[in-house]
Amino acid sequence: MTDVLSLLPPGRPGLLADVPPGACEDLAHYLATGGCAPLPAPGRLVDRIAAAGLRGRGGAGFPTAVKLRTVRDAPGGPPVVVANGEEGEPGSVKDRWLLWHRPHLVLDGLRLAAAMTGAARGYVYLSDDLAEHAVRQALAERKVPAGRQALALRQASAEWAPEVPVDVVRTERTYVAGEETAVVRRIDGGPALPTAKPPRPFESGVGGAPTLVANVETLARIAALHTHPESAAAIAGTHLVTLSGAGGTPALVEAPAGTHLKTLADLSGHGRARAVVLGGLFGGLYGAGWSDLRLDHEELAAAGGALGCGALHFLHPDDCPVAAATDAAGWLAAQSARQCGVCVSGTSALARALTAVARGEADGTTVANLERWSRQLPGRGACGLIDAAARMVATLLTHYPERIEAHRSSPCPPCTAAPPATHRYTVAVP
Ligand code: SF4
Repeated sequence: MTDVLSLLPPGRPGLLADVPPGACEDLAHYLATGGCAPLPAPGRLVDRIAAAGLRGRGGAGFPTAVKLRTVRDAPGGPPVVVANGEEGEPGSVKDRWLLWHRPHLVLDGLRLAAAMTGAARGYVYLSDDLAEHAVRQALAERKVPAGRQALALRQASAEWAPEVPVDVVRTERTYVAGEETAVVRRIDGGPALPTAKPPRPFESGVGGAPTLVANVETLARIAALHTHPESAAAIAGTHLVTLSGAGGTPALVEAPAGTHLKTLADLSGHGRARAVVLGGLFGGLYGAGWSDLRLDHEELAAAGGALGCGALHFLHPDDCPVAAATDAAGWLAAQSARQCGVCVSGTSALARALTAVARGEADGTTVANLERWSRQLPGRGACGLIDAAARMVATLLTHYPERIEAHRSSPCPPCTAAPPATHRYTVAVP
């Protein structure tokens, strides 16, 4: 079971607030709390999003307003907007939580994104049964007479941004299925596998149209920011963070940017952690000094990591960092879509070499290869999977050189256990 917690000051609007535990918010509740507010001028909302500094929550952290303007201004329209609810990171639950519990908030964000880009249609892209049920139910609510009537009250305003037709597209849950080119490929009827870039979806996406692929938390924050303009900067500067690790309670937390990771660890019972895996599996492993880090894109990047989707996995004092990195690399290698030569050979080579280190079978060449590959491989695949594996290796080498050396002569019990505990990072949605 996972806890849902908030670190927001009382009265500050949040995405986790206002929904009773276990409930799925219905249209009446969403409208009663100010949702589906009229949109005076789409361009002004884009400006507000830019001023608030909202960044995408899928992992890359790209400025949302730049993405909206690029799709809006791209030739070849009308654009398409996609709510991307496929979170491939095993340690993240935030997107599925939002789709399960606040589907109208996400759909409202999609409506606003359509208005801001001039899109003629939208998609919700997901891989989860309960998420699909919640979204289909929410879409149906908007079509039945009572829902249509409630929306019509808002629609009476000339400033109402109309709904666009929205389809739900199902995919398999894999690490790469949520990558934006994989999303486009799947919606167009192909496999959910990344394609080479360019073109990027904003240039040629679904059906060849300029396409905005937006993470569902990003869309939820757009909707919240529109409903609560007085708190725009605070909403944009807040993150949904999934916390997990041995010895504590998994938790989904809403926390302001700048929150110390130690505060988050204490909140979920991981205060004694010896290290943290950042950004799901994307941001690498951080050892001594982790408790001084804060929830901040730039700060984590400067520390050699990445905030990514915002998931944090804490290592218990009994956890071996070499085993943790080996599990992560093995999981990533198994998730490779095996369509880029460099990933087919590179990611599996990283995983094999780490496994050799963990089992005490590595020599000096193995470690030298790990060091060289971790520098050479990033950026060479069609998606970020190979970057995640390389960063995991690079950060292990940086933070635990003595542990790697020690394993060459005397591996520890967790590392000699076979098969690797590849499910250590998986978290259940509350
Ligand atoms: S980098 Fe790897 S996972 Fe990503 S598209 Fe290429 S083969 Fe697939």
